[in-house]
Amino acid sequence: MENQEKLVLSIQKEMIQFNLKRMRVVAWTLMYISTIITVIHYGEVFFSNSERAMVPAYIAIHTILFYIDLAVLVFVKEKKFRVTTFNMRKYESILLAYIYTILLLITVITVMDVYFFKHAALYEVLFLMICTVFSIPFRKIFRIVVITVPPILISAYLSVGISGEGIKILLPMSLIIPIGLVIQRHTYKMQRQFTKEHILLQEEMTKSKKLSKLLAEKNNELSAQALRDTLTNLPNRRALNNKLTQIGQQLSKSKSLSVMMIDIDFFKNFNDYYGHLQGDEALIKVAALLNEIAEKYNAFAARWGGEEFVIVSQHAAKFSEHVCEEILEEVRNLNIRHEHSIVADIVTVSIGMCHVKITNSEQLKTCCELADQALYTAKQHGRNNFYSKSGNFDEDVCLPL
Ligand code: GH3
Ligand code: MG
Ligand code: MG
Repeated sequence: MENQEKLVLSIQKEMIQFNLKRMRVVAWTLMYISTIITVIHYGEVFFSNSERAMVPAYIAIHTILFYIDLAVLVFVKEKKFRVTTFNMRKYESILLAYIYTILLLITVITVMDVYFFKHAALYEVLFLMICTVFSIPFRKIFRIVVITVPPILISAYLSVGISGEGIKILLPMSLIIPIGLVIQRHTYKMQRQFTKEHILLQEEMTKSKKLSKLLAEKNNELSAQALRDTLTNLPNRRALNNKLTQIGQQLSKSKSLSVMMIDIDFFKNFNDYYGHLQGDEALIKVAALLNEIAEKYNAFAARWGGEEFVIVSQHAAKFSEHVCEEILEEVRNLNIRHEHSIVADIVTVSIGMCHVKITNSEQLKTCCELADQALYTAKQHGRNNFYSKSGNFDEDVCLPL
């Protein structure tokens, strides 16, 4: 119901906007007509050399009409019409006042002046134009017909009488009025229908635009989620693969690459003893720490899987070793109790580091495998430490490290 009311209001607003634009056409036309009639009048006076001291009433009224139209043109030009709920009634009144004024003034000319038929025809031309150009509810146009037509008809009767000749001229002339009313009714209905469809279409378009925006946002959200590990919020294995692919694509010459594989020591025991929830908490803490360190050194940290993490950086070997030491120390500083670790009574990690100069993207995968081998060695050497392998790739063959 509320939507229906909103729609009706929007239709009214658009129709008023449409009519205000059409006011321009009518004002221009009427201005030309008034000018031509005035020029003809003074032409006649000039060429017939007749003395006319008084300005005839119809010329005076045409001059008034000229200025009214001029004012309308200035008004339409000056205002950037934005019909809103608050000003729509005001604009509608201006429009109706204009239509009523011009028709009333033409009626006055028709009734008062001696050239009855000339001005009655002008009234009809104008009336037909208004009925074709504007889209106004039937009753509003009918009101002006009720006011203006009777005086014209009375005036016609007074000037020509109801003779057979008079009826022959007046009858077809009178028919123009109902024809105009029918045209107006049709124009109004069509314009209303058109406006309604236009508004509904626009609403649909706005809705679908909003939906596409929402969909794009959701898509972005989903793709971001697809690259994150749900527990630790670190980039996941897929994000790591993307990162490696990106590094591979940017390879123009050989590049220094360090891959650190970080594994929490005796984590199965931790879970068994403290439970999975506390295990999760420990994982989150270690992950946050690794992410912090990675960000500090402009490196990339990801969760490899389980209790294993990876850090990829493009620093020199010595620097990466320093980072490994920092990780070991900072994890110990977390001071997470681990009664069932064989190496300490707190959570510790072992790190396998591989540092190489890579020349093509194929070697990236091998780097991870080498880091994994290094991790195995670190564990064999007693855990809570790091083991580093470094070397050069030579034509896809890894030299002994
Ligand atoms: P090692 O010192 O040799 O690395 O032994 P480990 O016990 O740490 O390694 P293992 O591979 O034997 O066990 C890994 C454990 O990590 C097993 C599993 O319960 C635990 N784990 C893996 N993912 C999660 C997780 O998301 N949450 C929790 N709470 N535990 C996890
Ligand atoms: Mg492991
Ligand atoms: Mg482990």
